[in-house]
Amino acid sequence: MTMRAQPQASHYVDGAYVEDKDGAELNSLYPATGETIAALHDATPSIVDRALAAAERAQPEWAAMTGTERGRILRRAAEIIRERNRELSELETLDTGKPLQETLVADAESGAEALEFFGGIASTIGGEHVQLGDDFFYTRREPLGVCVGIGAWNYPIQIASWKAAPALACGNTMVFKPSEVTPLSALKLAEILTEAGAPPGVFNVVQGHGQVGEALITDDRVAKVSLTGSVPTGKRVYSTAAEGMRHVTMELGGKSPMLVFGDADLDAAVSGAILGNFYSSGQICSNGTRVFIERPLVEPFLDRMTERLRGVVMGDPMDEAVNYGPMASERQMQIVLDYIEKGKAEGARLVTGGTRSNRDGWFVDPTVFADVTDDMTIAREEIFGPVLSVLAFDEEDEAVRRANATPYGLSAGVFTRDLARAHRVVGRLQAGTTWINTYNLTPVEMPFGGVKLSGVGRENSREAIAHWTQVKSVYVGAGPVEAPY
Ligand code: NDP
Repeated sequence: MTMRAQPQASHYVDGAYVEDKDGAELNSLYPATGETIAALHDATPSIVDRALAAAERAQPEWAAMTGTERGRILRRAAEIIRERNRELSELETLDTGKPLQETLVADAESGAEALEFFGGIASTIGGEHVQLGDDFFYTRREPLGVCVGIGAWNYPIQIASWKAAPALACGNTMVFKPSEVTPLSALKLAEILTEAGAPPGVFNVVQGHGQVGEALITDDRVAKVSLTGSVPTGKRVYSTAAEGMRHVTMELGGKSPMLVFGDADLDAAVSGAILGNFYSSGQICSNGTRVFIERPLVEPFLDRMTERLRGVVMGDPMDEAVNYGPMASERQMQIVLDYIEKGKAEGARLVTGGTRSNRDGWFVDPTVFADVTDDMTIAREEIFGPVLSVLAFDEEDEAVRRANATPYGLSAGVFTRDLARAHRVVGRLQAGTTWINTYNLTPVEMPFGGVKLSGVGRENSREAIAHWTQVKSVYVGAGPVEAPY
């Protein structure tokens, strides 16, 4: 049977699609219907070995090219992505269930921006020069070597591109493993990089469950692991990588706070909370799921939010009029529904939503809880679904203290018309990525990443270069060499 989104083969190694049917079955399902859209296989040890060998062989030659040459290839790949945006967006929608209305503007396009940005700065990557009398030293920013990227299922092509673009710009090569829930679009990225002129082996994709990821990160040929995933997986991957003293970037989960002060523009705050809780059906790591609202504004906020949620158009994500899709997997839907039950059982007030929608796919209604207290499970644990918790506060200090009382630290937002307060509060919030009077905008020019348990390292921006290179110091003596004897 031909499936709707069947790729040529499961893996992309050394510049070509490869298959090995000995690997366990790995199917991609359309979350709106549960229909199987592609049948793939996990990478066998032999596929993993071939991918790493190809990346290792390709790396010195790739690094020997000038940054301008590498950058040109990345920018050409960005152009091809843009030309094929519709096809790629449809594939992403089938794989993730996110509305086409979203994927057309947010997914492949964000990947193209990363390739364009890092393609643009590839020729400027360099070190420093410091004079020491007649002597001097300079530093070289050298590539790390073979890098492994491991992705989550919420933004598959974006995650693959956010890792591949800076890694390749710096002269590294990569083996990327997508989440087994969304295996498809990374293959397209590999195909496009080849078409753009990337030599075989520079970017490889192998499919598989956690064990394939484990095989990649324990291999001696690997210099770095960049993971986007949950905190428990991050802890495991980080400690495994430490065995080989490998570099890591960890983009992990969060339970981010959004602080709405009484003087905030209410509509802006509601829009921010929509972007930070319901876009992509809430499956975004940086979501502001704990919405702290100054007490007098709580009820107006809930009224406005309920009204705005009437604008949700749920349905087949391939229909461009639809703006709200299902969860990416049945498992994730179940996790979210379980959290909703805990919220109710622990005494939160269900304002709207709270149920699985009456459809074939894995839809959960946008859900808002009020009267949430800091100790409730829904206020402490990452849900990764469309569940917004409103917590009331009275004082700025109290809001900041409660916002920071979490082991996570990915993001945070502040809504207020008081500029001094906005900057003061953002300065005190423990988070790697913060917003004032907006939420969840992640342009490639801005560093993105977390503090505390939410991760280490940064993606995007010039900051990323430091995480995909290592520094070599070169001291140059310009006078006689003095020795004691
Ligand atoms: P998981 O942590 O379950 O998985 C992430 C990836 O790691 C998957 O590809 C997974 O493979 C793989 N993996 C699992 N176990 C291992 C292992 N032992 N060694 C190597 N690789 C392994 O995350 P989800 O896919 O469920 O994604 C949701 C999570 O990702 C949320 O917590 C979310 O907050 C976070 N996230 C963070 C972002 C950020 O930038 N900070 C952005 C997006 C999501 P498999 O899927 O086959 O198990």
